[in-house]
Amino acid sequence: MKLCSACLLGINCRFDGQIIPNDKVIALAKKEILIPVCPEQLGGLSTPRESAEQKGNKVVTKTGTDVTHNFTEEAKQVLKLFKLFGIKEAILKQESPSCGCGRVFDGTFSNRLIRGDGVTTILLKNNEIKVITEEDL
Ligand code: SF4
Repeated sequence: MKLCSACLLGINCRFDGQIIPNDKVIALAKKEILIPVCPEQLGGLSTPRESAEQKGNKVVTKTGTDVTHNFTEEAKQVLKLFKLFGIKEAILKQESPSCGCGRVFDGTFSNRLIRGDGVTTILLKNNEIKVITEEDL
């Protein structure tokens, strides 16, 4: 059993309202149990919503709203699910400010990527949960 970013299964939770299932994740879901979760929705954000990027220790939207609290709360909720189900591995969506693993946007909203992890990924890794992305499948 693994936990996965809900958007990878085609759930309507992306910030831009687009539905973009990932074929490899869908195929995996037919073989093993994947628990879908969208950290940003768990953190109280709506769908669609304004895009957000990490900027230093904060997370801000394109128009400058500080949504750090939503992102830190969401991460705690996701960790709770891991503990509840005893899950040790996650498949998360690359480049997201919540779910990204190894690569995130640089906080300038100019499509520039830097090395780093999303807010939820950081908390999961700090709790010894293995995080891979859809690109690793
Ligand atoms: Fe939700 Fe993560 Fe997908 Fe963003 S990448 S829509 S936070 S599941």
